[in-house]
Amino acid sequence: MGDKRLTLQSEDFNAWYNELVYRADLADLSPVRGSMVIRPYGYALWENIQAALDGMFKASGHENLYFPMLIPVSYFEREKEHVEGFSPELAVVTHAGGKELEEPLAIRPTSETIVGEMYSKWIQSYRDLPLLYNQWCNVMRWELRTRPFLRTTEFLWQEGHTAHAGAEEALEESLRMVNIYADFAREHAAMPVVVGEKTEGERFAGALRTFTIEAMMRDTKALQSGTSHYMGENFARAFDITFSDEENELRYVHTTSWGVSTRMIGAVIMAHGDDQGLILPPRLAPVQVVVVPIYRGDQPQLARHVLSEAEELAGELAAAGVRVRVDRREGPSPGWKFNDWEQKGVPLRIELGPRDLEAGQVVVAKRLSAEKESLDRRAAAASIPARLEGFQKELYARAESFRDEHTFLADDYESFRCHVGQGWAYVVHCGKPQCEQAIQQDTKATPRCIPFDGPPAEGTCVRCGEPSAYPRRVVFARAY
Ligand SMILES: [Zn+2]
Repeated sequence: MGDKRLTLQSEDFNAWYNELVYRADLADLSPVRGSMVIRPYGYALWENIQAALDGMFKASGHENLYFPMLIPVSYFEREKEHVEGFSPELAVVTHAGGKELEEPLAIRPTSETIVGEMYSKWIQSYRDLPLLYNQWCNVMRWELRTRPFLRTTEFLWQEGHTAHAGAEEALEESLRMVNIYADFAREHAAMPVVVGEKTEGERFAGALRTFTIEAMMRDTKALQSGTSHYMGENFARAFDITFSDEENELRYVHTTSWGVSTRMIGAVIMAHGDDQGLILPPRLAPVQVVVVPIYRGDQPQLARHVLSEAEELAGELAAAGVRVRVDRREGPSPGWKFNDWEQKGVPLRIELGPRDLEAGQVVVAKRLSAEKESLDRRAAAASIPARLEGFQKELYARAESFRDEHTFLADDYESFRCHVGQGWAYVVHCGKPQCEQAIQQDTKATPRCIPFDGPPAEGTCVRCGEPSAYPRRVVFARAY
């Protein structure tokens, strides 16, 4: 942590984000342009995201497996829209072992193609279905403009790939997964996401339908935080994934895919952070409670006593299931340590000094407010899990009221233009790609989704006056 203060959100939100990622020890620049090194604090955050999602995937019947990272380039040419969507971003290996390869190999940007190839071997009969598989891996997309966690050439994610006997069942699966993402975002990341379907222009390359969770950041922009796709028979036809049904008829399977990436870390940073730094939801925070012992360097005996009390308290907290750290660093002052942990977004800080110990108490400070509270030392550890749960709820409520204060219904184009400069706007839309593009050129706003629970679309398109393409309003926003 340098002496220079963090740029304020109101001064320059992008600068605030970029500085914070490095200052909070989440990531560092890599020598290769566009990629990043995820440092232990950032990786621990990812591990907590992974653990929660992985548990939800397994509870809903999915198994993990692993596909190789190199895919023959020719595979991408089998699905027309897929190749158009991904070709510009492919990184390709042409040489290996000192020789030019006979067939160039793509570093996976996503795995539908190789999954399709393997599923065509694994699936023969309706008895083999459904296949409900997921993999945790890295992927590479050669992006021109990159930002840590939000858009990097290499990133970590999970990609689920399922195959089903019929359309209805596959569609149900893709909806189940976007709802699992929404539950994760709400319950673990404390983000009140909007769940809905993408319009045609925003669909995944090769999908018939794409579902999404969209989160509002503190600058009111939207961040797509997880997507789930229903592919219909597109990939089954491209990779010849067939099965014989109960009547012994040969049919194509219906497939889905769904993914959440390290982008989720960017979402958590921008959905909750403030001018002091990160604010992490307790369920994902690598450190939920930091204990800062307070003593003076010229009183070694007292210092040892305070430190041993701090360790004892940390032991009690760990036994209560709390992720806790004691800040034993010798050099920095308590005030510097407070700032450092505030910047790292640790939900609760416990201060422990000689006077507190004498009075049989500790002081608890909450990252969400300036107030401090004294707790009875003996009862402190037992009360912390409930305080963390309370913090989690408070953080969600804060994000929800922020979102609601910046969400508008717009019925005419002038008020629409004004609202998408200040937040999200629900409008009636004609669904025409040219109309979406005209809106984007004029306002930088794009259709984020057609929210499942949004208001019904009564009236005509907010920009061109054509009839509505959808039964519900579309939410438009500027987005990352
Ligand atoms: Zn229109």
